[in-house]
Parts: sequence; structure tokens; C-alpha cells
Amino acid sequence: MSAAGAGGVAPVPSAAGASLDAPVGGARSSRDDRKLLNPPPSAGEAKPRRVHSFSWLRGRLRRLTATVSPRVAGCGTLLEESVTKTEGAQLRRRAKVDAATGEASGASHHWHGVETCGSVWACPVCSYSTRTVRAAHVREAVERWGQARCGMLTLTIAHGPTDDLRAMLRGQSAALSRVTRGKPWQRFVAAVGLEHRIRGCEPTHSDTNGWHPHEHCLWFFRGTDWRQRLHARDAQWGMVSTTRADGEWDWAERPKSDEARGELIAAGWQDACPEEWLIARWQRCVEAEMGPRHRPSSRVGTRLTRIHDDGRYLVKLGLELNDPTKGKKGRKQGSRTAWQIAQDWVEAADKRSPAAKRDAALWCEYVGSYKGMRALTWSRGAEEALLSAATLAVAELSDEDLAKAEDQKDGDEDEVVLTIARDDYAMLWSANLLYRLTRRSEQPDGLIDLESYAAELIEQARAIERRKWQRTTGALDYRLAKWGEDAYDARYDGGDYPRSELLSA
Ligand SMILES: [Zn+2]
Repeated sequence: MSAAGAGGVAPVPSAAGASLDAPVGGARSSRDDRKLLNPPPSAGEAKPRRVHSFSWLRGRLRRLTATVSPRVAGCGTLLEESVTKTEGAQLRRRAKVDAATGEASGASHHWHGVETCGSVWACPVCSYSTRTVRAAHVREAVERWGQARCGMLTLTIAHGPTDDLRAMLRGQSAALSRVTRGKPWQRFVAAVGLEHRIRGCEPTHSDTNGWHPHEHCLWFFRGTDWRQRLHARDAQWGMVSTTRADGEWDWAERPKSDEARGELIAAGWQDACPEEWLIARWQRCVEAEMGPRHRPSSRVGTRLTRIHDDGRYLVKLGLELNDPTKGKKGRKQGSRTAWQIAQDWVEAADKRSPAAKRDAALWCEYVGSYKGMRALTWSRGAEEALLSAATLAVAELSDEDLAKAEDQKDGDEDEVVLTIARDDYAMLWSANLLYRLTRRSEQPDGLIDLESYAAELIEQARAIERRKWQRTTGALDYRLAKWGEDAYDARYDGGDYPRSELLSA
């Protein structure tokens, strides 16, 4: 099951959460095999980590991401007003209803009244809840309009390992708005019967080619004959293969040499064939905005394809996240999404290794570059035309407000399964152990003894905090012993504590 396929909106994917504690036959035996081949690391060595859930990942990434996007750092902390209302932090159970059948299908657990950063790019939890809703909207739009009348346009540019992601994103956006301006564009729209557009993106990174930010546009056409319209004049220019039974336009028939291309272009080929026009226009606009170095290739720079039932178009729009808890299966060789980079960094046993440092830098570059961008852009009037009135009200919310709305639905009908003191919640949040409570509560018999399990975790969190505190005060003692009073840094206590107390702690 894909992460966003559940239909319901839960901050933590329940299926993945539930399966983690239960030993799975196959997985267990292959792990044992590996243990035999690779002896476990000795006690002193750091162990590689596994991603448990989106909220766990958020906790692990918190400090790294906060250097670029400080808002993310507070995601998941308790909101002041909810604490005063409920006298503590509440874990609540919300029954899930299957959208298609209207029947109850399981339940999800969430903490009531917590802060949501709403970052669709940098926060795994908010990103997951926002994108799941957006994906449902796009799916609704496609279903209402008719899949046969939709096409997916992919636009790429030439790029290299040294190119700056933010500059490329800006250039690409500018080039795309240049494409969709002016009289020639109006003529193209009329010729192919284009009605609405939705734009999204999905950046990937590879070591050989650097960042690869694709522009993906979902196009909604007036008729089902849009492909015929795009290629209506191809036959006149000899672009249709006689060997193809469907009589469709064929890459094989395109001119191979620059000379042949030049001749056709001089004769007005690109103005006559809509798809050729689009390819040429994208090339011209990219060159005008970003310079000749980024000029897209005429072969892969522009792709307009049909969409299929498999939901690949949602993945391309960046709306379906790879479930980070599902391991590394299904990755394209050499090319990683930003989430996969984050996952690799989190899982790295040694954060000071060159690979881990590079992943950290890449993640920060990505977060900084996408900050402030919207997950999806609908062309003017598209939302009103494609969505039902009820969906429209939700779709018009900003990404940030949507994440809030998803997390803080009033939820008075939700059942409270556990209440813990706010300090204990803060302790668990800080030690990144909250996910374990949520995970346990979602197991079939998880609600039995949930309270004693919580007490156990709070103890663990206290121990972790105590160790952190000892490290801080230890460093302070060391500095004072070595360099004397001058080494004392007032930033460490913010003026709240008398220094003698700090030292005796
Ligand atoms: Zn968040």
C-alpha cells in the first residue's frame, strides 16, 4: 500500500506503524542471515537507524531542518490554549470512514491540540497530511473531467552537478510563465482545446547530474481527441510512421540531423505542428530566462503523455510520498527524492562521514530552495470548474492552513484514549518517543496497559534528558576548570539561573 493511498488523513501511517512490532517471517529470517554474514557492531559503535514513522522522522530531522526553516522545529509541541482546556496532552482516537463505501474502516490516533508547522516541503508529518488531501482533490478533478481528456506534461531543462537548485527553480518558473503568455500561446490553446492546468513538481537528485527539478503539469482538454489535435498536421510533414497501425505520431520519424531539422523549421514545421511548437517554445523560453547552458533537449525536454489509472500522475505531481518506513525498495538507481536523501541521512550510522555530511547539505539546500513555494498551482478558474463545491472550500486553503485544519478538526466526537501531563508530553516530544505511544495504541490490543507503557516511556525520556543535561553541564564544568571565570558564557542560562545552581546540578 502506498503511503497516501489510505484515503483517510492520519499524521502517522497506521498500517506501517502496526506492522513494525510484529515480527514478519520473511523479514526476520533475512535479517538473521545478514547477522551471520556481518557480525553486529560492537557496543561502542553507532548503529544504523531505521525510519519508524513520519513523526519519528520529523523528530530526527528537527535540528537539521531548523537551521534552514525554523518553523519546523516547533511542529508537534502542545498548543497553549489546548493545554489549558484539557489539562494535559490527550491522545485521541478518530474512527476512519471509507470515502467510497461510507463504512467505518479502522481508526487513527493523534495527539490533540498540537502545533503544526504546515511545511509541505520540510516536515514529514505536515507534508503527508497536506499532500494526501491535495492528491484526493486532483483525483476528484480527473474523475469528474474524465481521464481520457487529461494529459501529463513533463518539462525538464539541461542541468549539471554544480547547478544551484534555487536558481534553477526560479528560472524554470519564469520560463514556464513565459511559455503561457501572448498570442501564440492563445492560438496553441485554441488549436488543441486546452481548458485547465495544474502544476506541481517532484525534484530528484543524482550524484552525476545534481538536482533535477521537473515541472509537471496536468492538462485538462476540451475533447478526448487532444492527441489527434496535437498531431493533426504531422502527416503533412512526414512525421507519421507508416509502420504504426495506430497511425500515431512517432519519435522515429523526427529529423535526426540538425540539417534536416533546420530545413523543416525554415519551412514552418514548428509553427504548423502544435507539439513541435511546444517543444521549440519551451527551448526558447528556457534559453531566454536561464541562458543557453540550460537549453532543454528537443527529445526529452518536453513530454506530453496520457495518464493512467495507476496514480503515477499523482506521484509525478509530488503528491504521493514514498513511505519512508517501507525501506529502500523501488528506488530508481542513482536518483533520489529529497525524502530519500533525508532518510539516508537519518539512517547513517556515522553523521560525520562524508556521505552523511553531503546528504545533510543536500537536504538543507532543498528545504531552503523550496521554502515558500506552493505544492500545487491551479490555473485561473480550474478549481471552480473541476471540483465540487464541498471540495472547493478545502482546496482554497493555503498549505499551512490545510495542515492545521487536518490536524485540528474540532474532533469532539473523538475518543480520548490517554491523557498525560504536559511536561511529560514535552519530555516525550523532545526525546522523540511519542511515535511509540501512537504506534502501540494503533495495534489491535494496544489500548490495554497503554498507561503503564506511557509511564515506562516517560522514564526512558527522562533518562535521555538527564544524559543530555549532564553532557551540557559537563562541558560547562570543563570550560570553567580549564579557562576559569572568563570562559563562562551567559547565553547558557539566559540569566534565569544563578550560576552556582548550574554548577551544582
Ligand atoms: Zn510540521
